Amino acid sequence: MEIKKVRAAVLGGGAAGHAAAIGFSRRLGSGSTVIIEKQERTGRKLLATGNGRCNISNENVSPEHYHGDKNIIGSVISRFSVSDLKDFFAGLGVLLRSDREGRLYPYSNQASTILDALRSECRRRNVEEICGFSAVSIKKENGRFTISSDGLVISSEYLVIAAGSKASPSLGSDGSGAKLLEDMGIRSTPVFPSLCPITAKEKYTALKGVRAAGTVTLLADGKKILSREGEIQFSEHGLSGICVFELSRYVSEFFFCGSINGTKYREISIAADVLKDYSFRDVCAYLEGIKKLRSSENADTIFSGALNSKLASVIAGYCGLSGKKCSSLTPHNIKQLASASKKLIFTPIRSDDFRTAQVCAGGIGSEYIDPCSLMSRKYKNLFVCGELLDADGDCGGFNLHFAIGSGLLAAENA
Ligand SMILES: Cc1cc2nc3c(=O)[nH]c(=O)nc-3n(C[C@H](O)[C@H](O)[C@H](O)COP(=O)(O)OP(=O)(O)OC[C@H]3O[C@@H](n4cnc5c(N)ncnc54)[C@H](O)[C@@H]3O)c2cc1C
Repeated sequence: MEIKKVRAAVLGGGAAGHAAAIGFSRRLGSGSTVIIEKQERTGRKLLATGNGRCNISNENVSPEHYHGDKNIIGSVISRFSVSDLKDFFAGLGVLLRSDREGRLYPYSNQASTILDALRSECRRRNVEEICGFSAVSIKKENGRFTISSDGLVISSEYLVIAAGSKASPSLGSDGSGAKLLEDMGIRSTPVFPSLCPITAKEKYTALKGVRAAGTVTLLADGKKILSREGEIQFSEHGLSGICVFELSRYVSEFFFCGSINGTKYREISIAADVLKDYSFRDVCAYLEGIKKLRSSENADTIFSGALNSKLASVIAGYCGLSGKKCSSLTPHNIKQLASASKKLIFTPIRSDDFRTAQVCAGGIGSEYIDPCSLMSRKYKNLFVCGELLDADGDCGGFNLHFAIGSGLLAAENA
């Protein structure tokens, strides 16, 4: 079997792997580093990010936007700020711009701008890309790492594992990086899908494709856990949209571990407020007015001046008032309708699976990895970065920021 000897090998050609390869090649010299990628080309997930626009970072990057191992998150984010990221990409000739929410995108609005720039810098530093190489085992012998695939063996002095999580396996990462590390005695915390739609018990087929600006609140045993505002997207299976994605991590934790933020709960629900700009009292007054204005119409239309007509009809049905004339609505019925618009309950039966998740929660934590260097505590010169680590960010560019920052941090310690 052919053995290829290099100084540094980076396993995984995603955002973290490219950043690490650039960092290592800058440190160890041109031609010192290889990227090993199991797919036929590197960076496929990067091209899919931000709907093809690549939301690379966020003006508001701070540890509060991340979940998982506080030591690792704090270390990476304190060493790699948003201005460090801007400088890094400026050095690669990439112009960035931010939107009103602080989300940073390439000025070109094309994810390929980011990938092309990373690959171009790798080429300039003579980083070799070895694609179609699926690592199946890693060993450390005589101070060197041996990474084996079916046809080729790579022997390296430094090894960076940047093989991603289990999220969106069709784009490459399938959890095999965590398996390789587990075989070396480096274990991950439980991994579950995050930033994904939520499937609910209530099936409102009529709501498929309906969107409403509102607030979603996750409740556990009746206690409010967190709320997010934004565009709620309804589907025949449940809920989606960025604000829903941000609850999904907690819903997944509940279904995978029975807990939320480590506290055990028995049941959870999501309350959607589709009239967030109005108080309960305002909505009651509004409905009393509509009741008089449209007395001969039925309750299915009572919200149609305020909400999508399908949503209006679902709310009437939710209250058991479908088909009832507006004129016959009692004060109690008005309160029921107002309450449903402010607190339409969905019962999650699961968060969506890894296939649709943008990221995974959980991963390798500081028990095994030194947060300052991202080097393994057990194996000198073995580094772990990117989504494999126990760090997941909110929606808005936080995950790619972490991937790039952690790749560069690992390289600083070569
Ligand atoms: C659809 C979608 C949209 C997203 N949009 C955004 C966004 O706009 N902004 C944001 O911040 N985040 C976004 N994310 C999340 C972000 O893309 C990830 O957090 C980030 O790409 C993780 O980078 P990584 O390098 O750690 O892993 P990955 O990008 O997953 O790269 C890992 C690489 O390792 C390779 N690999 C895995 N196992 C092996 C093996 N055994 N041998 C060889 N190679 C292997 C994989 O093929 C893959 O190429 C999005 C995710 C998805 C799925």
